[in-house]
Amino acid sequence: MVIIIFFIAQWYLSIFAQTFLQHRYASHRSFTMNRFWERFFYVFAWIAQGATYMSPRAYAVMHRMHHAYADTPKDPHSPSNHKNLFAMMENTRKTYTACYWDNIEVEKRFKKDVPDWPWFDTWADSRIVKVLWILFYVAFYVFFATTPWLYLLLPVTILMNPAHAVFVNWYGHKIGYRNFELKNTSTNLYPFDIFFLGESYHNDHHRNPSSINMGVKWYEIDITYYIILLFSKIGIVKLAGSGEKLQHEKDLGLAESIVAPILQTKHEPGKVLA
Ligand SMILES: [Zn+2]
Ligand SMILES: [Zn+2]
Repeated sequence: MVIIIFFIAQWYLSIFAQTFLQHRYASHRSFTMNRFWERFFYVFAWIAQGATYMSPRAYAVMHRMHHAYADTPKDPHSPSNHKNLFAMMENTRKTYTACYWDNIEVEKRFKKDVPDWPWFDTWADSRIVKVLWILFYVAFYVFFATTPWLYLLLPVTILMNPAHAVFVNWYGHKIGYRNFELKNTSTNLYPFDIFFLGESYHNDHHRNPSSINMGVKWYEIDITYYIILLFSKIGIVKLAGSGEKLQHEKDLGLAESIVAPILQTKHEPGKVLA
């Protein structure tokens, strides 16, 4: 029971950290935070994601490449470019590492306005810290597992962040349905989004990358959107205005939003963007 609770807690805290910090904040600047809260969520992401913590800076650079070049040979993770999801995972890992160490040629626009906390990332993303996390997970399972079957969860515990990412990036460009016909293969994965806190409304997201609400249809409930609204009410985040978001997307060249700038000005859940 302890293992199941730990697994569920880690699953949701990790995906929340990813969609809130690395994705909506660092990559898309959908909202802003002051330095204290930014760093608070860095530490939160590190605890939640453990062995697979990703630097928000490096993640943002790689993720912006995905949006700008989705499904083309320049896309770091598209099912169109890889024969299976493990090959795509490996290429994602390599691109992330290259972005992290800055030893890949990256267009300037992808590095614009990304949060950075170098010494924290150097430490949190280091091999030794990752190994210590894995030892902690193994010790935790050894101590609390009441049946050997529970060890089947251990590989997911160790690889939590990539497990989430590969589901969205592979299946969110392969199966599911589309609300918008775009120049890429992105799809939405409702009802599986109950496990992904908004991340799997991927076609909606490609259509409108800076929106804090990743769902569009009334039933596409994006739980993270409501958490961000709550954070905004109590002063943890400040929502970016539609003009700022549009400018940001223009700067980055995220094509879908430029074609039809219909960024939500009022944050109405269920409002269909057409
Ligand atoms: Zn995508
Ligand atoms: Zn995105």
